Amino acid sequence: MSTDLFRPLTFDYPSPYPFLICAGPCSAETEEQTYETARLLRARGIRLFRASLWKPRTRPGSFEGVGAEGLAWLRRIEQELGMQAMTEVASVAHVEACLQAGIHTLWVGARTTASPFAVSELAEALSGTDVTLLVKNPLNPDLDLWEGALLRFHAAGITHIGAVHRGFSTYGKGQYRNAPLWQIPIELRRRHPEITIFSDPSHIAGRRELVPIVCQASLEMNFSGLMIETHPTPSEAWSDAAQQLTPDSLIALLDTLLIHPTRSTADSEELSQLRQSIDHIDRQLLHLLSERMKLARSIGEIKAKDHLPIVQPERYRTLLQERLRSGRELGLEESFLHELFSSIHEASVHVQHISPEDDR
Ligand code: PEP
Ligand code: MN
Repeated sequence: MSTDLFRPLTFDYPSPYPFLICAGPCSAETEEQTYETARLLRARGIRLFRASLWKPRTRPGSFEGVGAEGLAWLRRIEQELGMQAMTEVASVAHVEACLQAGIHTLWVGARTTASPFAVSELAEALSGTDVTLLVKNPLNPDLDLWEGALLRFHAAGITHIGAVHRGFSTYGKGQYRNAPLWQIPIELRRRHPEITIFSDPSHIAGRRELVPIVCQASLEMNFSGLMIETHPTPSEAWSDAAQQLTPDSLIALLDTLLIHPTRSTADSEELSQLRQSIDHIDRQLLHLLSERMKLARSIGEIKAKDHLPIVQPERYRTLLQERLRSGRELGLEESFLHELFSSIHEASVHVQHISPEDDR
């Protein structure tokens, strides 16, 4: 019997794919655009629909959503098309408007998850209701903040809760609009093995050409579902025009995703042997790291005795250059080597700061 606080989300209808799928436009713009998108998705068996009515925009002057007017459009989609329509809530007023209009499937956006005050207010407003709630990760890569929001909603008595991984903001341009930092949702899953986690490849990728690769990566990493922005004429969308797909291209994409059938069956003999070899190598790595740290500590003692500074930039520079060169020769990626040796160096500097008494 699992002791996880969070239970898997269940829906009243089958998913046409071996994973959950939620699709719809970034924003509801007009009743026609919203309804037409929903109709095309429903015709292909998709029943969980998304559309934002209130848009948190980075800069003033951008389209900020149609607001409460769109609630009736979402209800119409639920009633006429038999879909479940969800929208983002960021304030108590949004929650009240949704509940009054009969919209009971909601998500909390990245900017809101980052604010414990806002989360507490929403949790209070939602307490005692039967909503299904998805909580997106905060903009900053802080797992505790994400988990904290999930726990606050749970503590308010909301039991139908899932998470959405939408990537993390970074300064400057990377390959993706939001860095996936997959280790964060993977750690959320380790802490809460039963929680439903959607991946949001649209907001991670930021560009429609990259959405397929992020979808495939998400399935490899065992996400429960995908949330994908879909618009009848994506390049004319009033928000996130670069990342939305047409309903047809969404369906074509979903049909090409590779689902690994062994995901739920017992591991093969070959796989378990390979894993044993990995376990063995990892133990050796740990042993070597501990030996290295002992040497760093001895060097630290000499530096302290001789009044030498702990960080010696020239030594670090040549060490890093040499390790990058040797590592590249062994076929390892430069960015990985850089990250690895920066962490090792940081840990060495840290142990050299700690005097033997502190360390006991
Ligand atoms: C969205 O889903 O359209 C949205 C605004 O997402 P996020 O909160 O992840 O930026
Ligand atoms: Mn969007």
